[in-house]
Amino acid sequence: MIDSDSKPVSNFIQNIIEEDLKSDKHQGRVITRFPPEPNGYLHIGHAKSICLNFGLASKYPEGICNLRFDDTNPDKENIEYIESIKDNLKWLGFDWGDRLFYASDYFEQLYNYAIQLIEKGKAYVCGLNADEIREYRGTLKEPGKDSPYRSSSVAENLDLFKRMRAGEFEDGTYVLRARIDMASPNLNMRDPAIYRIRRVEHHRTGNKWCIYPMYDFTHCLSDSIEGITHSICTLEFEDHRPLYDWFLDELETDCHPQQIEFARLNLSYTIMSKRKLLQLVEQEIVSGWDDPRMPTISGLRRKGYTAESIRNFCERIGVGKRASIVDIALLEHCLREDLNQKAPRVMGVLRPLKVVIENYPEDQVEELEALNHPSDPSMGTRLVPFSRVIYLEEDDFMEDPPKKFYRLAPGREIRLRYAYFITCKEVIKDKKTGSITELRCTYDPQTKGGAAPDGRKVKATLHWVSAQHSIESKVHLYDKLFIKPDPEATGTDENFKDFLNPESMKTLVGCKVEPSLKDAPQGYHCQFERLGYFYVDINNRADHTLVFNRSVTLKDAWAKIKKGKKK
Ligand code: ATP
Ligand code: MG
Repeated sequence: MIDSDSKPVSNFIQNIIEEDLKSDKHQGRVITRFPPEPNGYLHIGHAKSICLNFGLASKYPEGICNLRFDDTNPDKENIEYIESIKDNLKWLGFDWGDRLFYASDYFEQLYNYAIQLIEKGKAYVCGLNADEIREYRGTLKEPGKDSPYRSSSVAENLDLFKRMRAGEFEDGTYVLRARIDMASPNLNMRDPAIYRIRRVEHHRTGNKWCIYPMYDFTHCLSDSIEGITHSICTLEFEDHRPLYDWFLDELETDCHPQQIEFARLNLSYTIMSKRKLLQLVEQEIVSGWDDPRMPTISGLRRKGYTAESIRNFCERIGVGKRASIVDIALLEHCLREDLNQKAPRVMGVLRPLKVVIENYPEDQVEELEALNHPSDPSMGTRLVPFSRVIYLEEDDFMEDPPKKFYRLAPGREIRLRYAYFITCKEVIKDKKTGSITELRCTYDPQTKGGAAPDGRKVKATLHWVSAQHSIESKVHLYDKLFIKPDPEATGTDENFKDFLNPESMKTLVGCKVEPSLKDAPQGYHCQFERLGYFYVDINNRADHTLVFNRSVTLKDAWAKIKKGKKK
């Protein structure tokens, strides 16, 4: 369950639960469920649903939240997805205990429910093909037409349905349909399909079944079998609620959960449809479901998101009934806020520029004390080696600086963080290309620790690493995956890819980081001073590979947005 110290949220769903507890509607029980279909990896939208379902259950002493795989569509589902979903849920900090269920475990029960419906005259086997069914369904303006199979006898329907199960018919020959109302203004009620023939091996039931139940039929009954009290889903299922209730009423189930809809999470510059995310993976536009640019939990995790930051984000966005788009800057803000507290500060130079300190003794090395956190003394200090040759960030130097550039320039003095003041004396260039290869500087031995005894000031403090002690590493810098805030807004299943950001990933090699990072394990978070928060993606001592992913920059776009709004 979520940390007990996370702030309590109240939302309209919680109010419904409180009312139900007061009126003893469900005999004091609160049972929710998170019901993923294992046809892809979890994304940040799922995190909202997870935090909501597990979070609500955890607020009540008797509260329970089930994990149930809605695995009725074997064409698209597999074990890899099941494992990744379990892994991500655990990582997010939620525990389903022994409450792990699969809709496929109910196949026999669901089949019996279908038989009951047929016996009641409430379901029939229909031999129209898919096109005909669509045609007969009618439109929003016009009522549908009865299928010629609608009036078959119970005996005929039972016989056909049993033979469907026995594998006597080709895929698509027949479907079992609920017998409701072909003139209903709600299209979902116009005799929806409840079973179809599909000869596909299922990842759990193998070849036992060649008919599979449809989502609407499966979902309400699975909820009921598990004794769910509040079945929370996203708004697009609002029109399905009458059907949810119809199945449970007709079958007179002991437990009739209440379906409650909330607005799904949409995030700017992001797509959330698993179908589309799968395209990015299959077409190798990204490196996999866990590519750090993906909005998946696995991707965010590899980028360096913490579980706390994601849970905190879900809490802040709240739960409502109105669809909206959340600014991705808020998600980044939540990560920054968390890492600001947790991530130790270190120095790393992404684009190194060699600097020789001419008056520093050649064979001297000093171990200088550096703070691991500027405002949290409990995080302690470390020693950083300083020597005659160091690296500075290439763009911290300008030969011909414009007015507001206060960093290093010819003749100018600056402070090296935790070290000395240095002054740039000479710029060495490659004779052929004219590019800067090295700076020659001098240091003032009196300024050790970063202050001058005569009180003179400098305008910049720069990060650096000692060349001979630095560790070579590779760094991935990420940007938004899409250039448009709403890449899904205009159109088809394909054209969201027109809005991919060609600069969503930059890889820098030859970066130099301070030696304290030598043993940083995979999964380690740190702040490279002045540059952002970084995450160790790979640290393989055997082949000297150290790879960092930038989790987020230090610039807080969200804080700016908020400030702007306050004005
Ligand atoms: P997709 O459309 O991406 O395939 P889905 O809704 O089909 O998503 P499921 O695996 O069925 O994916 O989702 C599991 C649960 O997560 C459902 O209860 C669903 O309502 C919820 N969920 C999915 N996407 C979001 C979202 N963007 N915001 C909030 N909840 C979501
Ligand atoms: Mg779904």
